[in-house]
Amino acid sequence: MGNVLAFCEFGGSTLKSSALSNLTFAREAAAAHGGDVVAVLIGAGAGAAGADAARYAKQVVVVDDAALEHYLAETYAPILARLAGEHGASVVTATATTTGKDLIPRAAALLDAGMASDVSKLASATTFVRPILAGNAASTIEVSTPIIATTIRQTEFAAAEPLGAAGEVVTAAAGELDALGATVERIESSKSDRPELTDAKVVVSGGRGMKTGENFKVLEELADLLGAAMGASRAATDAGMVPADWQVGQTGKIVAPELYFAVAISGAIQHLAGMKGSKTIVAINKDPEAPIFQVADYGVVTTWEKALPELIEEIKKVKASR
Ligand SMILES: Cc1cc2nc3c(=O)[nH]c(=O)nc-3n(C[C@H](O)[C@H](O)[C@H](O)COP(=O)(O)OP(=O)(O)OC[C@H]3O[C@@H](n4cnc5c(N)ncnc54)[C@H](O)[C@@H]3O)c2cc1C
Repeated sequence: MGNVLAFCEFGGSTLKSSALSNLTFAREAAAAHGGDVVAVLIGAGAGAAGADAARYAKQVVVVDDAALEHYLAETYAPILARLAGEHGASVVTATATTTGKDLIPRAAALLDAGMASDVSKLASATTFVRPILAGNAASTIEVSTPIIATTIRQTEFAAAEPLGAAGEVVTAAAGELDALGATVERIESSKSDRPELTDAKVVVSGGRGMKTGENFKVLEELADLLGAAMGASRAATDAGMVPADWQVGQTGKIVAPELYFAVAISGAIQHLAGMKGSKTIVAINKDPEAPIFQVADYGVVTTWEKALPELIEEIKKVKASR
């Protein structure tokens, strides 16, 4: 019997939506391996989210230690690897977030586990489908090691529904921590009232055609009217118009919201790789030949200078009439 150890990210007392997608994958993998899902929460304050995790997994292991305040792969990976052994894991999995992509390869190395990254589908207990070539092809890979490590693509797995009955929460010690010389110097985080890019139901993205960071203010007005997150093309982030963590695409964030606005974005394959799973895509671009129109559900061929004020005005009218 092989259990599936699901590393779950949390914020305060709740699991992040990325963790819920990982738990959906973990349930599928556990069914294929004839085991159970063991949700693992690591970090200072992890205990607060234990009860929430127990709504989704039969077993929850919490490693809550003040020394784990700042995430470091060097300290987290040995804990995950140790728990994999203690809980008879056949699969160790995390969502392919910045943390998951950093953590799981190190845990895989410690476990001598073969790894499938950015998995979009479980094909069998040991075979996994993952996108390649900026999402233009899918490859199926088989991993034959006794323990398999995976990261999964959040947008390909729906959020797990709660179980009928809450699972059991146990605590585990962090053990001796050795960061191998790595230290956290400082954390620079941007505070925003907007939803997280990867969680948002609506995303408003701008590209190089916005010309300056100042011009993004009109996109932010649209985003705030719609309760949306802000995104951008790499050309816009590389030019310093907007923060780097707004980047959507192959080397940025993968999003699949209900509604995606691509404004003054040409639609390069590397950008499409990060947003083409969106349910409805609206493109505003002055060039009728822009490739973005090939994936758009609604296309407006005009400048953003003309389209955005009109769109914002109309949305305000609709909101006011409600
Ligand atoms: C290895 C690699 C990884 C990459 N990863 C990413 C990634 O993760 N994400 C990403 O986005 N890119 C990525 N890129 C870059 C990608 O190839 C493109 O260069 C980039 O997406 C282009 O951004 P853009 O559409 O904003 O700019 P452009 O291609 O310059 O397009 C600007 C668009 O704005 C339109 N426009 C101009 N003025 C106006 C106006 N006034 N009103 C309306 N429309 C207007 C133009 O018609 C044009 O279509 C990657 C490239 C490589 C090589």
